Amino acid sequence: MLSENSYHDLSLINNAEKLVVTLTGDRLYQHLISILDRHNEIRGKQGINLVAADGPMSRQARHLLSCELGTRASCGEIGRRSRYFTGLDQADEIEALAISLINDLFQCKHSDPRLMGGVHANTVVYSMLKKHLNITNMFALNPFHGGNLSNHKMGPPGILDYSIIDLPIEPQTLKIDLNKFECLANVHKPLLVNLGAGVHLFPFPVREIKDIISQWGGRVFFDGAHQAGLIAAGVYPNPILDGADVFTGSTGKTFSGSQGGIICWNDDHLSRPIETMAFPALTGSHQLNRVASLVVTCIEMRTFGKEYMRTGINNAKRLASLLHNEGLEVLGAPEHYTETHQIIIKWCYPEGAKAATYRLANVGIFVNAVALPGDGHRLSGIRIGVTEVTRLGITHNALIVLAKVIAGCLLTRCFDDHARIVVADLAKALQTFKYCLDDT
Ligand SMILES: *Cc1c(COP(=O)(O)O)cnc(C)c1O
Repeated sequence: MLSENSYHDLSLINNAEKLVVTLTGDRLYQHLISILDRHNEIRGKQGINLVAADGPMSRQARHLLSCELGTRASCGEIGRRSRYFTGLDQADEIEALAISLINDLFQCKHSDPRLMGGVHANTVVYSMLKKHLNITNMFALNPFHGGNLSNHKMGPPGILDYSIIDLPIEPQTLKIDLNKFECLANVHKPLLVNLGAGVHLFPFPVREIKDIISQWGGRVFFDGAHQAGLIAAGVYPNPILDGADVFTGSTGKTFSGSQGGIICWNDDHLSRPIETMAFPALTGSHQLNRVASLVVTCIEMRTFGKEYMRTGINNAKRLASLLHNEGLEVLGAPEHYTETHQIIIKWCYPEGAKAATYRLANVGIFVNAVALPGDGHRLSGIRIGVTEVTRLGITHNALIVLAKVIAGCLLTRCFDDHARIVVADLAKALQTFKYCLDDT
């Protein structure tokens, strides 16, 4: 049942309401566990997870999400002077470790790990830029050109009344058209350029953009939600070293940790404005269990990141080329398809990309549909990410099988049962996480 007033599918809520009024607490609990078991079977055991926004967490990092610390309120900054509550000395030590590891990985002077996600981090940054630096005009990528809603009208800058001009792009590669940008920038003199993309194949020209807008004191805000793991591992240009003034990232995408957000910066003068916007303005308790878990992920990244993320990019290039050979239209073909964990298939059939991705889900392959330049209501992009299968050690041969089953399912539609068996077989060989600390 679809309603005019809500985007929820109300039939699912109606079903749940029936269970809530008929089942006892014990039965409801069993029901919850059975739903989770089903999910685990479908996604964890029999599925191939290629959702680019997912991050495969190690067992050690997952384990810490249920630590005692997670039940503690945490308002404030590190140290007794600023914490609102007593009993947080160990939390202070852990958060200090998190900050030090993040500073080391991202080669920055300052960072804040208290954000609950990339959108939350962006909300803090846009609020800070407006309140402390009076910035209210910016360039950003349109969400139909790879950009993310959290950097556009639907998100925090829209809510904060920023005026937003779209960055010009090259539709075949989603790269920024630097010449067009320079012309537009000279006319509009933006005080801020946000570089943030959820659909992203090739690095942004951070230094070039910074050089242009520096002429009138403009700043670069790099939202590396997707690229955080690649940047920390040193296999994608570090935007902070290239002149970005502020960086945000998600910790649950390529960074492969618990879902959360970080902010990084170098300018000492931004420290108080960012920290006070993070707390008390826009966060209360910030989930200390998540921070403890993040420390584990940072150590994994420092130890194994380079090999892990480099293998991921190579896997993405390989799978993209295999899919192309199977007859799918893959973006970036003349430039080896991608320099990230992502592959973008252009899906022009009238069915639309969203319906196509549900056909893949039917056989146990999970990806998502994305908007590409020129799209209206019907999406034409299928985004594939290889971070999880990389961490699970996918082999070259398995990539060949995977490409065949994806292309077969998308293009010929006729052998679902067989495809399901092939996918479950592939998944069976992908059950052990690599690039993890030894805890035996
Ligand atoms: C995914 C994404 C976000 C949101 O990150 P969450 O951690 O899910 O809140 C923000 N910006 C970009 C560019 C993204 O791709």
